[in-house]
Amino acid sequence: MTLSLPMCDIDGQTLDLSEEELHQRIDAIKKRLGKDLLILGHHYQRDSIVQHADLLGDSFLLSKLASESEASNIVFCGVHFMAESADILSRESQRVSLPNLRAGCSMADMANLEQVEDCWEELIAESGLVDPKNRIDQSAPAKDGEACLVPVTYMNSSAELKAFVGEHGGVVCTSSNAAGVMDWAFERAGAEGKVLFFPDQHLGRNTGLAMGIPEEKMMLWNPSESPDTEILNEARIILWHGYCSVHRRFNTSQIEELRESEPDALVVVHPECRREVVDAADAVGSTEFIRRYVAEAPSGSTIGVGTEINMVKRLDADHPDKKVQCLDPLVCPCSTMYMIHPSYLLDVLQRIESGEEANRIVVPVETAASAHIALSRMLSIIN
Ligand code: SF4
Repeated sequence: MTLSLPMCDIDGQTLDLSEEELHQRIDAIKKRLGKDLLILGHHYQRDSIVQHADLLGDSFLLSKLASESEASNIVFCGVHFMAESADILSRESQRVSLPNLRAGCSMADMANLEQVEDCWEELIAESGLVDPKNRIDQSAPAKDGEACLVPVTYMNSSAELKAFVGEHGGVVCTSSNAAGVMDWAFERAGAEGKVLFFPDQHLGRNTGLAMGIPEEKMMLWNPSESPDTEILNEARIILWHGYCSVHRRFNTSQIEELRESEPDALVVVHPECRREVVDAADAVGSTEFIRRYVAEAPSGSTIGVGTEINMVKRLDADHPDKKVQCLDPLVCPCSTMYMIHPSYLLDVLQRIESGEEANRIVVPVETAASAHIALSRMLSIIN
């Protein structure tokens, strides 16, 4: 039986293809383009996209693998900041496309360059700390008595913010290496220095706590309020006020309910979840960590997972000997990841095949150069 996908409007053109026809056309183009095409799929993509992905992974792993590939066309089935990172890390001869240009990330949008620059200027002025931009060797550990403000941005941020961080002696982190990156940043900040972490307050807070920094030594930055000087003086980490709308849905009642019905259930959550959820879980880690945790759990386990639903459903299907379920029974998929529909993938592939630079993501050269510095610093850090 042929299933009909809902009609999909792409730039005014309506595609009305059966699901079977849509997938056949994608497969045929993939075959014709061969090694000239690489399709990347983030773990949070729907199955009908993942089935066409040559590589599946988290944002950083995918960008790194893309740069190592020979393909001249890279189609990133994920969100905007991921395609930007792939463009920054890719070679000049490679072109990166995003099937739907509207697929952004609400967390990445919570911090823009102007806001971060304002925050930075205010913090430098209020704290009297050194801007690493003015140090001769930005990457060298702080000397005795030197106190700096070091910026750290999560991978989930715009290329402009990664460039800002690169220019100010800072570094990018992912959810899998945040602790190692924070150690590096504190070594550059010095014993009396501070780290400005953006845009995800929860990853910053959870990482700081795991490193032994108490919450009283963290300050939440709110751009619409003047900072309290006393709290700022005491703070070791200044956290931007961003969050992920998907991971913020998880709460401790969901964990309690699961443990009431299944006392032996294991709980693993992503560090973008709130502090109390992380504290109540058995384990916390990146999407790659969650994948390994589920794979290594004993056969017969029930595992409650605090992350995006498409990934959780796939983990359940991949491990029929285990019961893998989302902690939030009502959780929706990430609405922006969900904007990558097979119709958009087909559209972009057809245009690439006809020689068009379809939905190409190009980071301006100067921005890319500074962002590359911040990404390279991250790569040099062993977690
Ligand atoms: S899951 Fe959260 S952080 Fe990831 S793309 Fe969606 S909104 Fe952004």
